[in-house]
Amino acid sequence: MSEIDNILKNCNGCKLCVEECDFLQQYCSSPKELAESFKAGEHKTHPQIPYSCNICSLCEVRCPKKLNIGKMCFAARRQLVQEGLAPLEQHQSLAKGLDWNESDAFRVALPASFAGEIKSITKRVFFPGCALSAYSADLVLKGYDYLQEKLPGTGIVLGCCGAPAYLIADQQRFDEVIEGIMSDLNGLGCSEIITACPYCHNALKHHLPNLRITSLYRILEKIGIPEAELEETNAAEKRTFSIHDPCSTRFEPEIQNSIRKLIQAAGHEVCELEHSRDATHCCGLGGMAFAVDSNLSAKKAKRTVQESKHDLVTYCASCRGNLASQGASILHVLDLLFGESLQDKRVAPPAEPSKAQENQRALKLRLLARQMLARQKMSDTFGPAMNPF
Ligand code: SF4
Ligand code: SF4
Repeated sequence: MSEIDNILKNCNGCKLCVEECDFLQQYCSSPKELAESFKAGEHKTHPQIPYSCNICSLCEVRCPKKLNIGKMCFAARRQLVQEGLAPLEQHQSLAKGLDWNESDAFRVALPASFAGEIKSITKRVFFPGCALSAYSADLVLKGYDYLQEKLPGTGIVLGCCGAPAYLIADQQRFDEVIEGIMSDLNGLGCSEIITACPYCHNALKHHLPNLRITSLYRILEKIGIPEAELEETNAAEKRTFSIHDPCSTRFEPEIQNSIRKLIQAAGHEVCELEHSRDATHCCGLGGMAFAVDSNLSAKKAKRTVQESKHDLVTYCASCRGNLASQGASILHVLDLLFGESLQDKRVAPPAEPSKAQENQRALKLRLLARQMLARQKMSDTFGPAMNPF
């Protein structure tokens, strides 16, 4: 718990961090006071306190001493798990969600193919993540088709990155998920992952350092957006959007830049929020805090909703869902680049859990149908002996 001592030693009580953080405002008058209570072991009698922090690092950006209260809360979570006091009962739904995402209903690793034909051996995989797959199977498929067209040799892995387990300090479950992803990549013979979800990007980048992890949005900036989208925007009215940067990209300026360039390349304008880039507010879902305090999570989301004068665009399906649940008119950036009927999409509420799972299951089935077509074509052309599956 050296994070406690760091804050006890260095916090000067200026409260610049508290002004920006609903969690701190709810649980303490200053981070020093919170550190003192953790030092006295109060997090063991009130474990919901460290689990209510979004682990979003805005405090670090605001603090003149670069202190990060989220790191202290995460260390407290770890201690609670080590002493058998956590995960909490409120985390059971997260564990069930992860079980589903890791089950055969959704999880799959498929080699590269395109429109039913084998293009080449698998050089990399697209990892859309569980939240984007739950939001829209169509968007994942369109994005994947475009990647395969521009980058032949791209396979796909459906599953969860394990971030929910990591953030509630369930290290054992997280390690199992990471091992599963590693095993998928070994099976496909590649060591490069293209991520669409900022949470996945963070988790995989930090925990699979020997792999090449690249954000889809950096790649789209390089290879260009689909021509059809440009033509559609030219024919329609250009619009102005504000961007909600997910807190998981707070220290990823290159991804933030790519998003802005992609929106502009699609013919739209960007009006920055006061709280954007490294100063972004968490959408409320960060750190899995919503599991123990949904009111606090809603309060965080409302900050961003109230700040925006324009429709919002984000690049995390979870952020989109939570901000939409608080009344935001908001699109995922892939809606802008690959989607249709933006008017309806921007006000669509987040999918109910059953609908989200239906989307995930449908995505897997549609991918499997394509692979069966590819197998058949390969066998018809070269005979069963040459079939690489
Ligand atoms: S901004 Fe830093 S120094 Fe100021 S109260 Fe917060 S943690 Fe302490
Ligand atoms: S990590 Fe985020 S939620 Fe936690 S104390 Fe810092 S600013 Fe507040």
